[in-house]
Amino acid sequence: MRRRLVAGNWKMHGSLAANGALLLDVLDGLPSEAKGECAVCVPFPYLAQARDHLAGTPLAWGAQNLSEHAQGAYTGEVSGAMVAEFGCRYVLVGHSERRALYGETDAVVAAKFMAAQRVGLVPILCIGETLEQRESGVTADVVGGQLDAVLDMAGVEALANAVVAYEPVWAIGTGRTASPEQAQEVHALVRGRVSVRSEAIGAGIRVLYGGSVKPQNAAELFSMPDIDGGLIGGASLAAADFLGIVRAAG
Ligand code: PEP
Repeated sequence: MRRRLVAGNWKMHGSLAANGALLLDVLDGLPSEAKGECAVCVPFPYLAQARDHLAGTPLAWGAQNLSEHAQGAYTGEVSGAMVAEFGCRYVLVGHSERRALYGETDAVVAAKFMAAQRVGLVPILCIGETLEQRESGVTADVVGGQLDAVLDMAGVEALANAVVAYEPVWAIGTGRTASPEQAQEVHALVRGRVSVRSEAIGAGIRVLYGGSVKPQNAAELFSMPDIDGGLIGGASLAAADFLGIVRAAG
């Protein structure tokens, strides 16, 4: 049985005061009987605040990016070891905004995935197709290719300690959610692609859905057999919405 995960991606939002309040509100409202796991991925400057507020609580925290390099002359970059020092469990890799706006290729994403695991972080590997790709019928090739880049470089065993997030680019921040059936189709494809290399790892890997998840559509999405939770952007910035989604995950 896969343990559900609902992870918030705050992106570049907030302030020390606002984020502190949001962390406490989420913590306060976490259902005590929840069987799933819950995490928030905060901007780098707020990692210390997350650690201070969340250490010893059921709410995990993580970062939204890391360098593929361990250290050196990479001005402005942040290494996995630095992120890990702040007690993070998770780190996003290959978010579509990183791929589209900062030119992260499949190879760079795979290198970041491995850099995360080298320091004990659990990478949440984000994959997904653009609207144009979906409309041209190449979703399976695109998503499969993004996944294979990591499988080929890191090996299937690396997926045993990782999470995949399927995030159709056309659904991120647009209010346009994939239907549960559309998402399920891709989630099954992702699991199948891993299962070809290792049945056990394919069966065990958590595949989250991301893209305009709201309290109103979360339960329906999470009811699909291969959807193991969600990666939540906009709705993770309001405690009530995020908590509504966490409750829908059970
Ligand atoms: C995201 O940023 O990963 C995301 C899924 O955003 P949203 O929930 O706002 O679509």
